[in-house]
Amino acid sequence: MSKARTFRGGTHPPGHKNLSSGKPIKRFPAPEIVVVPLCQHLGAPSRPVVSRGDEVRKGQEIGEQNGFISLPTHAPVNGTVKAVEDYPMPHRRTGPAVIIETVSEEGGRVFEPWEDYSSHSPEELVERIRLAGVCGMGGAGFPAYVKLSPPPDKKMDTLIINGVECEPYLTADHRLMLENPDDIILGMKIMAHVLGVSEYMAGIEENKPDAIETMRSRGCKVVPLKVRYPQGAEKQLIDAAVGRKVPPGGLPMDVGVVVHNVGTAAAVAAAVRDGMPSLRRIVTVTGRGVVSPGNYDVCVGTPFSALVEAAGGYGEDVRRLISGGPMMGVSLFTDKVPVTKSTSGVLALTSGEVRSSEEGPCIRCGKCVDACPLKLTPNMIAMTAAAGRWEMAKEFGALNCMACGTCGYVCPAGRYLVHYIKKAQNAIRAGMGKEA
Ligand code: SF4
Ligand code: SF4
Repeated sequence: MSKARTFRGGTHPPGHKNLSSGKPIKRFPAPEIVVVPLCQHLGAPSRPVVSRGDEVRKGQEIGEQNGFISLPTHAPVNGTVKAVEDYPMPHRRTGPAVIIETVSEEGGRVFEPWEDYSSHSPEELVERIRLAGVCGMGGAGFPAYVKLSPPPDKKMDTLIINGVECEPYLTADHRLMLENPDDIILGMKIMAHVLGVSEYMAGIEENKPDAIETMRSRGCKVVPLKVRYPQGAEKQLIDAAVGRKVPPGGLPMDVGVVVHNVGTAAAVAAAVRDGMPSLRRIVTVTGRGVVSPGNYDVCVGTPFSALVEAAGGYGEDVRRLISGGPMMGVSLFTDKVPVTKSTSGVLALTSGEVRSSEEGPCIRCGKCVDACPLKLTPNMIAMTAAAGRWEMAKEFGALNCMACGTCGYVCPAGRYLVHYIKKAQNAIRAGMGKEA
């Protein structure tokens, strides 16, 4: 019997990972024009410090940090600034961007390489990680330096590196673990040093036995996990890997744990050892709507359209284009949007891959309640939200929902549960939580 662990609730959607899991990462050269978003991280967009006509060097800061929850932005190429203007974005309709005409991709090292991280203090390392603009590369984009600076009253004892990649279709983290385990492990050790924790490990699902083996062969402690969605969510990963429950509304640091994605760990290694800002990432381009799915190492600012072209272009019958995975990703209205530091995948799905059932009435089967990993009652939140009863939706825990999509996936009536819950969250946050 498997010794792999998991969490309560969740679901197991078909993986579709075989479309790209066997495809080695290909380095994709920077396109002629890169569109570098100033809002690649969670929090305030960085403030532009370049203007039209400026020559920029690869690695140069082009946007300065604008608050605590924010990060600097760097030029991913050498080139000329063509414009600083709003542009379509993968996770919002539009956002500010620096548009650069590429001249070359040489250079990029802007900080002194630190061969021996252990000779530097945690404060120096956190500052390096901040200046390098490293954010969570698993999708959330939270500034990494903030998670590495817990308040003094919070005692951390465990670091978990997230190699779960539970979203169907995505294989970028899987390939990174196979092809670059040493950088991930170096980044993990740097972060453990910063946090002063002696317990650190990688959480990886059993459907990636080669990644588990590769990481273990390099001396990394690995916790194998059963295949279950959304195990890559921080709270579920902490529960599965070390058996601690983060309280509702709480943070991982409340139970002494910090979680970082494998891509983030590799970016930390590059920032500290090589003196490189965060300029590139691995992106899976997949779905039956692209001719030749694969994994690409691309610079931020690369348009999705260029990546789809690299994957052989669109096939027939593409019904939906998604940034990220099919469960938590965002449907796009254009493929002109640029890759950001938190873009894990570009999905072109055909009609056979998209659920198209009409929404029916709730049949009170309770499946959504059983599946919700946060023990919420999605049916009740959705019902109250649909009626505009925001205060009641709040009482049912609408604000605790992480929009993982599990409830909607298991609902036999095809209820648009996440849509209603997000509507309630927006209304409550906008101060509409008081009913007439
Ligand atoms: S209510 Fe929220 S957290 Fe629970 S399953 Fe639905 S989307 Fe996920
Ligand atoms: S799964 Fe769908 S039909 Fe069943 S209780 Fe939840 S909302 Fe209603």
